[in-house]
Amino acid sequence: MCVMKIRRFVFVACLTSLAVWSCKKEDDSKLLDFNLNLYPVSKDKQLGEQMDSIIRSDPNEYPILDPVRYDSVYAYIQSMFQGILQSDEILRADQFDWELTIIDKDVMNAFACPGGKLYFYTGIMKYLDDAAGFAGVLAHEMAHSDRRHATQQMTKQLGTTIGTSILIGAFGGNNSQMAQVAQQMVVGLTSLKFSRDDEYEADEYSVKYLADMHYYHPKGIARFFEQLAEDGHDAQSFEFLSTHPTDENRLQNIETVWQELGSPDGVYDQTRWQHIMSMLP
Ligand SMILES: [Zn+2]
Repeated sequence: MCVMKIRRFVFVACLTSLAVWSCKKEDDSKLLDFNLNLYPVSKDKQLGEQMDSIIRSDPNEYPILDPVRYDSVYAYIQSMFQGILQSDEILRADQFDWELTIIDKDVMNAFACPGGKLYFYTGIMKYLDDAAGFAGVLAHEMAHSDRRHATQQMTKQLGTTIGTSILIGAFGGNNSQMAQVAQQMVVGLTSLKFSRDDEYEADEYSVKYLADMHYYHPKGIARFFEQLAEDGHDAQSFEFLSTHPTDENRLQNIETVWQELGSPDGVYDQTRWQHIMSMLP
């Protein structure tokens, strides 16, 4: 097999592993069991922009909620989004082109692309009881993007599968190959899982960002998981849980982070949230 064929094979193998992103991270990543990220920050932005253009070019799969007609809804969540971005804990507030988009579909999911592009389905927005719950999930998604979990996971997957030299050769600077990765990541959004460590970290920063904001209750993300538990949802019935794997220690970890911050208080803003959600189609 010539070098080009080997590279192509490895590249396809990597795309496949991205698409079926497994929970085996704890076993697979022993060799690279730290927050190594071989990709420059510019790759996060490039991937995010490519994924965003793929999403926007497919209105059947991703019908974007009209920002003009539903300006009140966008204004409310944008103000929350901008407020969270002021947190000193956000590392890349200025480096990323942060953008929050609503997809008008009855899907119980939200997702973060690399580079600060975030998407919420109206399904999960309407499901959430209050503004603090939404702020918690929003801050959680922002943490996935800001902490660069996608390219970090790509580094781990690639690093355990192939040598670093091939990684750099295959992904170092070839735009068409990065476009293929973006396409595959969009196609595999529902199966692209973060690791449990990433989930803990995203929860931790969700609490920290909201604590910095001094408005919504910093445990909004816990409120969301409590609501899921009360309603008996699992990964099969609630897409968010299939891409954001959870376990029984999650609420305790959120509680610990919150207490370490001095148990800061905040509002849940249920009445206003439900009024805003009543405007959705
Ligand atoms: Zn997550």
